[in-house]
Formats: sequence, C-alpha cells, structure tokens
Amino acid sequence: MMMTALKQAQLRISRLDRMMIMAVVLLSSVFPVELFPNTPPPPKGLDGQYSGKQGQVLVVKVKGEEQATEVTGTFLDRTIPFFREFRPGEPAGYVGLLGIDMQDDPGTYELAVEVKQGEQAKQLSFNVLVAKEKFAVEHLKLPKEKVDLDEKAVARWKAEQAQVKQALAENSRLKLWHSNFVEPVNGKRTGIFGSVRIMNGKPRNPHNGEDIGAPMGADVAATNDGIVRITVDHIFSGRGVFVDHGLGFYSMYFHLSEILVKDGDLITAGQIIGKVGATGRATGPHLHWGVKLNGARVNPYTLLDLPFKSSATLSTPVAAPVSEPASASQALPVRE
Ligand SMILES: [Zn+2]
Repeated sequence: MMMTALKQAQLRISRLDRMMIMAVVLLSSVFPVELFPNTPPPPKGLDGQYSGKQGQVLVVKVKGEEQATEVTGTFLDRTIPFFREFRPGEPAGYVGLLGIDMQDDPGTYELAVEVKQGEQAKQLSFNVLVAKEKFAVEHLKLPKEKVDLDEKAVARWKAEQAQVKQALAENSRLKLWHSNFVEPVNGKRTGIFGSVRIMNGKPRNPHNGEDIGAPMGADVAATNDGIVRITVDHIFSGRGVFVDHGLGFYSMYFHLSEILVKDGDLITAGQIIGKVGATGRATGPHLHWGVKLNGARVNPYTLLDLPFKSSATLSTPVAAPVSEPASASQALPVRE
C-alpha cells in the first residue's frame, strides 16, 4: 500500500515536471526574445545607401559633424580615412573616397563609419551595393619568355613585389592632393581596365590599370599632388613611378622610357614625372596608369570624374559617373 502511494506521488511530480518543461518550451517558441534576452544587432544601413560598379570610386559624405575630430570608415576590411572639406557657404563636412576593387564580389556590404569628437564616438552605418562591371576578355600574344617565367624570373618578380609592398606600407597620413585630377597622357584610352587576360592561351591576372596609347617619349604628368614613394625598374612594370597622394591613395605609371623624379620628391598635379616608353612587359610604347585606393584597385579614369573641381554642391549619396564599359574590340596593339 505504502509503496503504491509513493510511486503514485512520484509519478504525479514527474508528470508536473514534464508539464512545466512543456510550458517553458511552448512559451519560448512564442516569446523567444522575452525568455532569452539578447541584445539585437544594431540595424545596418540606417544612414544611407550608395551603389557603384566594380572598379569605381564612391564619394561618401558625412554631414552635420562640424565638431568631429576624426572620421574613419571600414568597408570589407579596408580602412577609409575621411577628410574635412570646406565649401563656400556650406558647413564643413567630412568626405571619404571609397574604392570598389575590380574583384569585389557583387552584393550589399556595410560601410561602418566612426565619428569621433574628442573622447566620444558615434557609429554610422551605410549600405553599399556593389554591382558587376562587364570587363572585356583580351587575348594577348607575347614572347614566351615574357609570359612563362623561369625560376630566376619568378624569384625576381617576388622580390620586386615585396619591395613595392614595403615602400607603400609607409603611406602619408595627410591628404596631399588639392586640385582636380589630371589625365597623365593625352592619348587613346584603351578601355581595358579590369579585363580578363588570356596570354598565349592561358588565363592570367586581370588588368589592374588603364593603358593609354601614346608616342615614345611623350610627357607623363602626375595626376595630382603627392610624394614619390618609390621609382622602380621591374620585370613587368618596367621603369615605374609610384606616387603617394596621402590617406592610402596611390597612383602608378609604368613602362616609362625615362623617369624624371626621385624617391621622396614632392610633386604637384600635372608635373612631368617621366616619358612614355615600352620597358618591362609591354608590346609597344604606352602608359600603364594604375590607382590604388586603400587597397582597392580602381579604374583611374573614375578620378577624372570626381566632383572636386569646382565649388559645385556635392549631391549625396553620389557615385562617380560610370565609365564607359570596357570595349571588347581590342584594336590597339600596345598594352600590359
Ligand atoms: Zn597595362
């Protein structure tokens, strides 16, 4: 008798337990947040949206932060330093140049911006839509030894890459450019930035700059003010100049026949820094003009479209106008 009563009591308790567990499970599925309090992630993209194609430069403006002491953005693990911009009759604002790398995958990404004012900081969040650019496919025929490198050439190329990387690690924290951007050579633009390259039948790295056809010895001008970070004579780029324009923004000029500046020289927009040539891996005289913006390889021609020329109001959000799509017809024999 006693045993049965105890068993029944146990049974009742365990049934009660089970019911309670059921109730918790049911409740938690109906009110998951209330029962398991979580801090929800901060909403993204609340402060605006930008869009652009692979290889473009976007102008991002942070308004109403006149008192800010530092503004920094982060986009796809790249740091975007903002700079103060004054326009007559307008409150000062902060502007950042966001480069979309030619190989960033299309999609929507966050641009997180931190606005610091002394000890205080606040976060802004923008959505950036990256659209696909239609890059051309190029078939190039080059002497076999210029494409299929032997061991010695590979070692040289690797050492040269390391040399450039080291030189560019030392970037100016100041914005060195002041005026509008200049086309370095007046010539025929080949429109092959970002093109997929098939050399002697084998796929190679995409073309990371723009080639401008010009006669041997033509003047090459710096696109803007800056400091010559390094001058080189490398296996692929030939005689080349790397200019640091500050805040992680570089321009480079390759295949020169002559270099007219030295490492460390301060130069101004339009200054002649070299002469067009065909040194390195080039099939004829032309300028290879490249631009890197905080690590992103962008189409240099988008710089010429940037709205920094006059005091005209910047409309925000704004993308630099789309450059013409790379043409598939490749009449010019000079490139690399
Ligand atoms: Zn090129």
